[in-house]
Amino acid sequence: MKKIALLMLIILSIFLVACENITIEEEKKEETSQMQVKKEFSKEGALSVHFIDVGQGDSTLVITPDHETMLIDAGNNGVGKEIESYLKGHGINKIDVLVGTHPDADHIGGIDYIIYNFEIGSFYMPKKSHTTETFKDVLIAAKKKGLKIKEAKYGVNFNLGKSVVCEILNPMRSYGEDNNLWSIVIKATYKNKSFLFTGDAEFENEKDMISSGINLESDVLKLGHHGSSSSTSENFLKAVHPDVAILSCKYKNKYGHPHKETLNLLKEYNIPLYRTDEQGSIVFYSNGDEIWSEKKPGTYDYYGEK
Ligand SMILES: [Zn+2]
Repeated sequence: MKKIALLMLIILSIFLVACENITIEEEKKEETSQMQVKKEFSKEGALSVHFIDVGQGDSTLVITPDHETMLIDAGNNGVGKEIESYLKGHGINKIDVLVGTHPDADHIGGIDYIIYNFEIGSFYMPKKSHTTETFKDVLIAAKKKGLKIKEAKYGVNFNLGKSVVCEILNPMRSYGEDNNLWSIVIKATYKNKSFLFTGDAEFENEKDMISSGINLESDVLKLGHHGSSSSTSENFLKAVHPDVAILSCKYKNKYGHPHKETLNLLKEYNIPLYRTDEQGSIVFYSNGDEIWSEKKPGTYDYYGEK
């Protein structure tokens, strides 16, 4: 009996030692692969695109590898200070290109504050005026700063730093009274990767851009109008063919953004969705060949009433 017990003990010990070895081996392997990923996708010298959480609204910051900056929109009235802290936290005192996509308050509300508190290079807006105090405040701030407003429209292109090419794709024509339709759409390309920033562009704009035949293909798509069902048509999504989509809105906002139709479409096409209402500010990095984020995608869950 004693012999059997001893034999059993020896077998058990061998088994345990073997198990431990396997675990150690596996841990080692995992450690190496994580380090390789870190080394390969270094943030150093990468382009970064920041979708700043401004509640219900938009504000997107682009920092090029040579430290030039573009700020597209500045959220609602009252969030200018928050955006200022975000930018200054990233060592930014100058905005090389400032863009107010269209005159709605959830996009240009904080722009006057930004103009007063930063050195601004160029300032782009569409040729659409508005009667609100918010809009007037932006005009006054620009005037006081001696900042000329450049008209943004299809065909106007500019470089951001040495390596990022920005093309304005909308407005393509005159769109009447609806502010959203005047939204500046920018395609920013860094080497082999592109980001498409759509403001609050709607179906009508998407149709115009598709029928113009311009190359809309982009790796990251900032969904139009906070994921509303009046933007992101199936045809537009096919034309852009993004790897990743992102939207900016407040959690459980009164507009029901993002709408079910948009969420379902993205789910159907298996496009990972990032969203500031679930994840706060989201940053994408690119070395020109890869795009990555330190955050995992959000859900396709719907929180609104509509
Ligand atoms: Zn909006």
